[in-house]
Order: sequence, then C-alpha cells, then structure tokens
Amino acid sequence: MTPAVTPAAASLASSLFPQTPSKGRVYNFSAGPACMPESVLEQIREELIDCRGGGIGLLELSHRSALYEQLNNEAEAACRKAAGVGSDYAVFFMPGGATVQFGLLPLNFLGENDTAAYIDTSIWSNKAYTEALSCRRVTVAFDGRALPAKYSRVPKKGEFAEPADAKYLLYCQNNTVEGTTFWAPPETSLPLIGDATSDIFSRQWDFTKHVMVLAAGQKNLGASGASLVIARKDFIAGATRAIPSILRFEDHAKAGSRLNTPPTFAVRVIGLMAEWTLSVGGPTAIAKNNAYKANLIWDAVDRSGGFYSWPAEKWCRSHLNICFKTPKAELDAKFVAEAEKHALFGLLGHREAGGMRASIYNSFPVKGCEILADFMDDFAKKNG
Ligand code: PMP
Repeated sequence: MTPAVTPAAASLASSLFPQTPSKGRVYNFSAGPACMPESVLEQIREELIDCRGGGIGLLELSHRSALYEQLNNEAEAACRKAAGVGSDYAVFFMPGGATVQFGLLPLNFLGENDTAAYIDTSIWSNKAYTEALSCRRVTVAFDGRALPAKYSRVPKKGEFAEPADAKYLLYCQNNTVEGTTFWAPPETSLPLIGDATSDIFSRQWDFTKHVMVLAAGQKNLGASGASLVIARKDFIAGATRAIPSILRFEDHAKAGSRLNTPPTFAVRVIGLMAEWTLSVGGPTAIAKNNAYKANLIWDAVDRSGGFYSWPAEKWCRSHLNICFKTPKAELDAKFVAEAEKHALFGLLGHREAGGMRASIYNSFPVKGCEILADFMDDFAKKNG
C-alpha cells in the first residue's frame, strides 16, 4: 500500500532538505546521473584540491593510503547505518554499474545446471534476466510484459512462480522507466536479491529479507562508476570459485572494496551521499519528503482530466520516478521545451517509454515539484 503522508510530517522533514538551486543552476529531473545536494558538491569541490588537509586532492589519493582507507570505511559505515544491517551482512563497493552486477549474479551463483527466477516488471529487470540468460538457464517468475498494459504494475502477493530449485529470485525494487514500485519486498522462501538502483535509502526497507541488495551509484548515491552491494556473508561465501577472483562478490567484500584499484572518487561520493542521507533524518524522514513531492506531481496528472496519462496502476506508483504523457508526441516535445524556460530540465522520458519523466530522488527540492505541478496545470489548460 502507498504510505500516507500528513502535510505536517512532510514539512517537518522538508525543512532539512535542499530548497532551491543556487544561481545559474536549474531543477534537474534527470533519471541518473541525477541532482545532488549542493552541500555535498561543495564538499567534493574542496576535497578535490586538498582532501582533509593532507595536501593531496581526492582524485590523486592512493587507494592504499591510510586516508583513503578511512574514507572507504566511513562510506561503508554510513551505508551500513542507513541500511540498518548487522555484522552478518557485508557492505562493500564494486566497480561498474548495475548492469555489471546483473552479469555477475549468474556467474557467481549459478552452475551450468542451476537456475534462478526473475520477476520481470520493467526494462531493467528484463535486462537483468537477459544478461543471466546469456550464460545460464534462468526463468521468468512474473511476466509484466504480458499484462494488458505492459509493465503497468508489480505482482500482487503470491502472484509469481517460485521454482523450488531456483538459487535466487531477483526483482527490481523501483522501476525507473515505468514509474512503478514495490512497497515491500516480495514474500518468498527463495533467496531474494533486490535491485535498489533507483530507490536505495529512499524509505525504510527491510534489507534482512534479502540475501543481497545492489545499487548503482548514479541516483541517490551520487556518482556513476561504482555500485553499493549489501549482501549476506553466508550467501556470497557460497559462490563458485570457478570464476576469476575479480568477478567474485565475496573477494571484493573480503578485500574491503580494494581488490584492485577501486573507483575511489565514486566511493567517496557514495560515502558523502550516505552521510547526507543520515543527516536529514535517514530513510524514514526521506520517505515522508519523497511522498509529499511525488504526490504534488501525481496529483497534477490526476486533476488534468485525462490530458496527462500513464499506465502505472495507482497503488504501485513510484515516489521517485513520476511518468506521464500528453495525448500527442508533438505536445510532449513542446512540454519539454517550454518547461526549460521555467528552469525545469531533464524531463524527457526514457527513449523506450516516451512521454515525460520527473525523477525526483532524495535530494531533489520540493520547490521544483511545486513549480512543475503548476506548469503542468497551466500547460494542460493551454493545450488541452
Ligand atoms: N537498474 C535500475 C533500476 C536502473 O534504474 C538502472 C539505470 N537507470 C539500471 C539498473 C542500470 O544501471 P547501469 O547503467 O548502472 O548499469
């Protein structure tokens, strides 16, 4: 169920959040890489020249130095705290984005005769499935493509297959392109793996229901080039040894995210974003703020009398990626162009989905959502 949000709770949370972009910057609705808090950007700027007074800039810092080790450990600690997992979970960083992780999962956990199941609710979960299919026999546990409106919702309780021999069940927690979300991890007896690339730390989430949660960096974690992995130690210890060490999750975890030269800059940015997450009250406060922001825009869709539409079913609408389209592709193009005159950028929908998409991750300002909702009302009136 979509969580309710009281206006008082929302405004309490939002006062801690970024308000308006500074002069010359715009409201950046990009799906990723995406907007970041200016306080974090300022800190990165400072560290680029001289990181913590050591006379060496962040990009120049050896990954074997004591200072980098400290930065890595701080990043891990902040992510661990935001996730709320204990010592039975490893928290570590790996080079590359989510698609790399999609490829590593079958290599680590599936022998040639093994299988895994995939809940297909989106372009991204389908990508995870096809990457695995390229080397192993994996199955679709829920086929969201076959719904009357393709990918318009996630499965309801128990509405997916659970092959008893599956080594894991993968799902995409928030569907970035389709604007849908799971409000709770699917209940299953299979080892569960969540792709949290577009919703990590956006709400209270029970990581302990999973053997692994992975998230590429470029949205709520800031920089592209690295992924955060939160995995049960006993699960990754069970991975095959018949693959190169550099591809094994456990080896990365055991090497403290420094199996080889890591993407040091991206890891530091993830650390700063996780610390920012905690500084505004953590996932609980963030969830209230996100619900408030998302409802501003979804409400504008709903009050447009059908001018704006989107197939996503209401009960599973995302609070992070709000998608809509007008009756005509030409009007969508006009919308995107005119929105830029109001400093609203990055609204063009995904190339495969069309329409518009407002990606409003954790640090996206409330004010930008208010301006977009007003602009939507006005545009609908003039073009409807
Ligand atoms: N999963 C989800 C939910 C995503 O939103 C994305 C990218 N937007 C990906 C996976 C793929 O990430 P990457 O480009 O880092 O491989």
